[in-house]
Amino acid sequence: MIVSKKCAMLGRGTGTLSLLLAILALGCATPEPRPYTDIADLVITGGRVYTLSWGEPGTDGTPAADAPHDEGGWRPDAEVVVIRADEILFVGTAEEAESYIGVETEVLDVNGATVLPGLVDSHTHVAGLGELEARVNLIGVETEDEAVARVVERAKSTPAGEWILGRGWDEGAWANRYPTMELLSAKVPDHPVVLESLHGFAVWGNRLAFEAAGITRDTQDPDGGEIRRDAEGNPSGIVLNRAGALLRSAVPDPTPEQFKGFMLAGLEQMARDGYVAVHEAGSSRQHMDALESLAAASDLPIRVYAMLSARDADLCREWLTKGPVSGLDRPQDSDRRLAVRSVKAYYDAALGSRGARLLDDYSDMPGHRGTSGDEYGFDQELVAEMMKGGFQVGIHAIGDAGNRETLDFLEGVLSEAPDAKKQRHRIEHAQVIHPDDFARFAPMEIIASMEPPHAVEDMTWAEDRVGSERIRGAYAWRTLRQAGARLTFNSDLSGSDHSIFYGLHAAITRRDKERQPPDGWYPEESLTPEEAVRAYTSWSAYAAHWEERTGVLAPGRWADLTIMDIDPFVLGETNPGAILEGKIVTTIVAGRVVHRAND
Ligand SMILES: [Zn+2]
Repeated sequence: MIVSKKCAMLGRGTGTLSLLLAILALGCATPEPRPYTDIADLVITGGRVYTLSWGEPGTDGTPAADAPHDEGGWRPDAEVVVIRADEILFVGTAEEAESYIGVETEVLDVNGATVLPGLVDSHTHVAGLGELEARVNLIGVETEDEAVARVVERAKSTPAGEWILGRGWDEGAWANRYPTMELLSAKVPDHPVVLESLHGFAVWGNRLAFEAAGITRDTQDPDGGEIRRDAEGNPSGIVLNRAGALLRSAVPDPTPEQFKGFMLAGLEQMARDGYVAVHEAGSSRQHMDALESLAAASDLPIRVYAMLSARDADLCREWLTKGPVSGLDRPQDSDRRLAVRSVKAYYDAALGSRGARLLDDYSDMPGHRGTSGDEYGFDQELVAEMMKGGFQVGIHAIGDAGNRETLDFLEGVLSEAPDAKKQRHRIEHAQVIHPDDFARFAPMEIIASMEPPHAVEDMTWAEDRVGSERIRGAYAWRTLRQAGARLTFNSDLSGSDHSIFYGLHAAITRRDKERQPPDGWYPEESLTPEEAVRAYTSWSAYAAHWEERTGVLAPGRWADLTIMDIDPFVLGETNPGAILEGKIVTTIVAGRVVHRAND
């Protein structure tokens, strides 16, 4: 415990330590009492605090001259964060912080854990994550009895007649002994049940579900699918491959209340995983209704930067009339948790399924170049209107043609409306870029919004699609940085694992979870530990226009913090593979602890 030797007064503090300090302080001349408004609600102490308040690294990753980095590597630049209400009051040493501690102050000793500005996942589909969470989890279940027991458990808390959905039983491991609907129907007679297999190639249902789907002995197997049958030809409870759709199509869409529950479950999961904010990429009216309802009830556990879906033109036009909401300009914390000033549009599809638009043929499919633009439903007029109406746009672009055409489009709108540049438009994924196009990002101040997990997940097939030349412009984080583009990093969950440890490890090493390949996949495109952390904190704050309020730890900023049990700065330079073992200790949003490990 550090005992203050300075003469600062102790505010309203009368605890043992404060008394001790007061005694030590005797003999000092005219102590300055701290005003009541400077007494902390929460003090985070004992941390390895990286404030990120030093200068930006060079585009080659070299830390700024004032960064806490030298030949010995990184070191924290503070040990305590002092919080009052929803803002940071002070960041510095334990000694300096003592004077902010009063009787009511909660002191949280994090025992050497690393304290960072709150993490942001800047491209998410959180409702989808929550929906997965809401399903009965059958991953790792080995027997039919155990699977049925889990559904029975869920049925106890589910009103009769409501659907119960599950996922994760292993169709590969179970293929020689597929279950039937008998036990499931006997044990769960009052709820239709649909249980998806691990890889989605098989669906298991009970009698009520098959009845609702209208699947009977007279139903034909669809092309590419099979309805498994008993000796009499009656459906036995399992549908395979394309027959899965017969059962799935009977599941009703979620009610608004259920959908709100998915959204909340997803956001709560993100809080547990260390995130203080997400950029929800493609919010339809259903999403917005849920988010606005949660915000109105002060139930948003973390901040949400909603990107309206350009596929919902009516919703976009409504917001065009209302105008953007920054999440900055209203006084109440609950209001600051939902910002609506961005639009997500879709220019082309994905590389894996060969939908992304390429300038030349796919290397593994001559004559094919994918689709884009109008053909893919990109509404130029609407997106241009939104840009002119003060909204940021984030345009999904994957192929080198998709990216070039998106840059052309943005250039066209910005030439008509140069002021719209300040809205910081984004290209989501920016996955494959032609060498001539890297230099076009910086003059238009376009942010490349990218996913470290995609690089290490796609590396097994991406080069097949584009060949050994074009692959050099793919997932090219360093090349973009060196061309002067800004980056923000994210997971695109629930398609990829959103673990920050996975993301940081991929960003720093270009290796997958098995730490392969040992030297990284095109490792020249990797980032430094500092750049990787910034891409999930200060640079993501910038991408949401929030950099004045968050992204670094400093007085007056939002009290949004992530505390983890590993130091990604030090490990990133010395033993990056160990980052994968990291755990989130605590998440703090607006001064409130929204997650503490083992709570
Ligand atoms: Zn996405």
